[in-house]
Amino acid sequence: MPKHFRVFATCDIGEAINLLRARGYEVEVYPHPEPPPKSLVIEKVRSGIDGLITTLRDPIDAEIFEAGKGHLKVVAQYAVGFDNINRADANRYKIPFTHTADVLTEATAEFAFFMMGELARKMWTAEHLTRENKWGYWHPYLPFLGDEVTGKTVAVIGTGRIGLAFIKKCVGFDMNIACYDPAYQNHDFVKSIQEMLDLRHARGLVREKPWIKYVGFEDALRQADFVSVHVPLLRKGESDTPTYHLFNEQSLRYMKPTAYLVNTSRGPVIDEAALARALRESWIAGAALDVYEKEPLPPDSPLRDPAVEDRCRLMPHFASAARITRLSTDPEKGMAGRCVQGLMDVLESNYGGDITKMPYVVNREAFVK
Ligand code: NAD
Repeated sequence: MPKHFRVFATCDIGEAINLLRARGYEVEVYPHPEPPPKSLVIEKVRSGIDGLITTLRDPIDAEIFEAGKGHLKVVAQYAVGFDNINRADANRYKIPFTHTADVLTEATAEFAFFMMGELARKMWTAEHLTRENKWGYWHPYLPFLGDEVTGKTVAVIGTGRIGLAFIKKCVGFDMNIACYDPAYQNHDFVKSIQEMLDLRHARGLVREKPWIKYVGFEDALRQADFVSVHVPLLRKGESDTPTYHLFNEQSLRYMKPTAYLVNTSRGPVIDEAALARALRESWIAGAALDVYEKEPLPPDSPLRDPAVEDRCRLMPHFASAARITRLSTDPEKGMAGRCVQGLMDVLESNYGGDITKMPYVVNREAFVK
């Protein structure tokens, strides 16, 4: 039986908490749906816990690590993105933190794909028409038309786990795929996708042969009918190719006036003031967003402007919000399972206690001997 570990979870992650309790862990779960104030997290950490379960809503930095000095051994993040955790601080205090990559890849990618379709085919606006009894007739082009997704060109910005999964969905819609990623280019994957596209063409399943290739950022945006963003939030100083405000007034102007932008990555990747202007002034045809510079989306956000309502879909950071993805206790299927497994790996010294070998630890660089 493992030692008696004390853990504080900043939110309820479901049944997986009981896996820890069944192993003898003492786990306290913050009982409210809103995030706990930072002062409370500091207080809990200072009380001597061994492990802290966090989500993307909790700012984790030197203040937290200082409060945990001498006893805090791991921060287990329930998310793949970890821009809320100060990696340099974690490394300075030598605290490993884990994340839940992979198990939310398909759920997030399919949600981005569905957002793209919902936006282009104006499903939200169309349903409102029906519900509000404004559907008076069938007509060839009134009151509005949408745009097809099939056969169009999509720019995939960021070809990591979710970007590649998104590309797989695009194959079934015979899309041309312009990939952009300055840090990681998976040419074997691109070759396999091209082979699939070629086969569909050779067997007569699609009239024109679709293509996939890596291109530059501007090139990708200039030719795309759709742009889907799958990058981490990287601020200046955190990367040679930061993603903060990657979409700004200049880059939004690269896009065609008929093109649509979909963002399921992180809000600050898009300069929202510039995007609101792009929508109002029709530099682009529309945007579907799941994430925002400030979450929840403030009541006075310019993105709520009724003048662009038909061209702007707004989701509540929901792309990974599918039942199995969020709650399965199986670390191969669910964020909850993977989160507690990451925590247990560190606390129970799995992998011979070698943090650099633990698959869910992010900041392994701090533990290389
Ligand atoms: P990943 O690390 O596998 O892929 C990210 C890719 O972006 C990498 O290949 C990286 O090289 C690339 N990249 C880095 N800087 C770039 C730049 N300047 N331009 C273009 N590409 C760049 O991560 P992932 O698992 O695919 O997840 C991506 C992000 O999606 C996460 O970091 C998270 O913020 C977000 N996410 C959101 C939700 C949601 O619910 N909306 C769910 C899951 C993930």
